[in-house]
Amino acid sequence: MAMPKKRMSRVRSAWRRATIFLTFPSTHVCACGATAVRHQACGVCGVYNGRKTILAK
Ligand SMILES: [Zn+2]
Repeated sequence: MAMPKKRMSRVRSAWRRATIFLTFPSTHVCACGATAVRHQACGVCGVYNGRKTILAK
């Protein structure tokens, strides 16, 4: 089994963990007025890039 050759310093471990964080997906205001996630079809009207991608029930 692979083993680390040297013990990693506390600073180095902390620095790596400091770069791991959750980010909120970037949003934009859709043409229908709702806040939608970028690069995804709007959850309210289903329009993406000016086209209707989700058929209404
Ligand atoms: Zn919309």
